[in-house]
Amino acid sequence: MDRKERIIMDKKPTVALAGNPNSGKTSIFNELTGSRQYVGNWPGVTVEKKEGRFSWNGYEINVVDLPGTYSLTAYSIDETIARDFIVEGQPDAVIVVIDSSNLARNLYLALEILELGANVILDLNMIDEAERKGLKIDVEKISSFFDVPVVETVAVAGKGIQHLKETIIEAIKIKRNEFKIDYGKEIEREIEYLSEFLKSKGVSLKFPLRWFVIKLLEGDTEIIREAKLSNLADEIEEKVQESKIRLEKQLGSDPETSIIEKRYGIIEGLIKECVERQVGIDERLTISDKIDKIVTNKYLGIPIFLLIMWLTFQLVFKLGEPIVGIIELFFDWLGKTISLWFTSIGISEWIISLVRDGIISGLGSVLVFLPNILLLFLVISILEDSGYMARAAFVMDRLMHALGLHGKSFIPMILGFGCNVPAVMACRTLESEKDRILTILVIPLMSCTARLPIYVLFASVFFPKSQGWIIFSLYVLGIVLAIIVARIFKGIFFKHEVAPLIMELPPYRLPQLKGIFIHMWERGSQFLKKAGSIILAGVVVIWILASLPLGVEYASSESFIGRLGSILAPLLKPAGFGFWQAGVALFFGLVAKEVVIGAFGTVYGVEEAGLTGAISQNFTPLSAYSFMVMSLIYIPCIATIGVIKRETNWKWTGLAIGYSLVLGWILAVLIYQIGRLFL
Ligand code: GDP
Ligand code: MG
Repeated sequence: MDRKERIIMDKKPTVALAGNPNSGKTSIFNELTGSRQYVGNWPGVTVEKKEGRFSWNGYEINVVDLPGTYSLTAYSIDETIARDFIVEGQPDAVIVVIDSSNLARNLYLALEILELGANVILDLNMIDEAERKGLKIDVEKISSFFDVPVVETVAVAGKGIQHLKETIIEAIKIKRNEFKIDYGKEIEREIEYLSEFLKSKGVSLKFPLRWFVIKLLEGDTEIIREAKLSNLADEIEEKVQESKIRLEKQLGSDPETSIIEKRYGIIEGLIKECVERQVGIDERLTISDKIDKIVTNKYLGIPIFLLIMWLTFQLVFKLGEPIVGIIELFFDWLGKTISLWFTSIGISEWIISLVRDGIISGLGSVLVFLPNILLLFLVISILEDSGYMARAAFVMDRLMHALGLHGKSFIPMILGFGCNVPAVMACRTLESEKDRILTILVIPLMSCTARLPIYVLFASVFFPKSQGWIIFSLYVLGIVLAIIVARIFKGIFFKHEVAPLIMELPPYRLPQLKGIFIHMWERGSQFLKKAGSIILAGVVVIWILASLPLGVEYASSESFIGRLGSILAPLLKPAGFGFWQAGVALFFGLVAKEVVIGAFGTVYGVEEAGLTGAISQNFTPLSAYSFMVMSLIYIPCIATIGVIKRETNWKWTGLAIGYSLVLGWILAVLIYQIGRLFL
């Protein structure tokens, strides 16, 4: 083996993590760098590249976590991101993370990356799963076949990470031999021919020439555009076409198929050589199959999904309630104690009001819901990590498909239950631009956790016996509306056929306790950070506007905020909450939906009966429900609007804002007006 020492100059070496979706890249990334990126047991979680670093033996290594991809022929935005980074980012090494229980499919990508000329390290991850399946893998043989280092890991248990780090340091010091697949006489002749042609044109490519030509023969026309060769595009296209026709005659099939078959052939042979299959061990798979028979059953699938959602909200409520009560008492006590103490040491009245009415009452009214939010995240994490969420998407696919929508859209939609912002980004996994935009447009209809405090507060005041049901109904309403709205927009803007969903169902995995709590805490602390920044800012602004102009009674209808709310109130009257406080709450809810409650806390906190008392005086059960529906739909929060703009353009962003305002208002009014006829 002819290996040259490679000089690492003062530049910090960078290694990239590539691999199929759900092979454990992010888990490896987290283990290497000690960070806590989002890991989920379904494809499509990482849609952007993430960077981190670690030090080892005096080296400082940059690590880049790439989105999952099945091949380097890029179809969707996240796949393109992965490919471009490998080509243009010129990482010093690429760690190809492989799901060892699924070698054949995973090695395909490894082969392509090797062909691209990258300095590859194979990471056979999920060795535990492979063993459970009864697979014995000969690591030495694989390593010598590809002439690359191979490391075995179990990312979730932190096994093999040290070895991986050592291997990375070794690998970046050396330059490997070029990896070349022999595609057979006929194809090789055309590769030669096209390479010569390109050379004669004097083109300079960011891709290795041979790889580029192979991709052209595979029909990856995107690559011409990416290589910025558009001035030569027609000519190249013509030459490629000639080659293809020749090859088709000689091979009896199109070259694309032959090339792919050749690669799979190599992998199949390799697996025969290196993997020993022990029989009769794979019990878990059959259990998994049995569960799937029921959970993804044609008739039972959706009822089971709904049942699980319903149970979730029962749990979020029942377990959360007592703790919420304690936190409420705490903030009450805190407000009183601080204002007494401040008065006794002679602090001026307006500061006391700021702290008591603005910060403690406003922020406190949001923070009391932390237990519910944590519980919800806990359940979501369990559902995700166990693999159930992927089934839910699968089940919904059938329904969505019947309506002409793309089932894969349901994954970002489920992510939307956590927060709409990453959900909008997750739409990058959708291959067609049209599906991506449609899904982005309806994601704000998914009840994110910021809306949970609104639901919990109103449901506990007005529907104490059926809180779980009420919240469940709002989540389901969101999903149903999302499907209807997407169907309508599709009819208006995009009339095209949908590709069927080919979704891989990950195996059921026992969720890792550590992972789940990390998840829960990460998201919970994000909520706390948000409370300490944007929500705090929101309630302070509201407090200021409620105290001005000078001399006005705090939070009265003559204050600035009262006047602002009074402008909106007539508009909201048909929906049953035509008073200025509701107008203000909704107006500031644009900043972040939690602020809806924060605003109520700030303007109502001063009243004798407190927040819940004030709410029960001003709303009826019916108007409370129409208010919850309004809060669900009426507008995406600023952060979501921002990300929609970034992922699409102003036209679609405007539509997202416009339709939600109109739809929210119409539904709230309908509910209130129709409800009044019956109640
Ligand atoms: P990515 O999509 O490639 O980034 O994969 P993730 O890191 O998000 O992991 C996908 C799923 O596989 C998660 O549920 C992980 O907990 C799980 N996982 C990752 N590595 C291993 C492993 O070595 N063994 C087992 N049993 N599960 C793993
Ligand atoms: Mg990932």
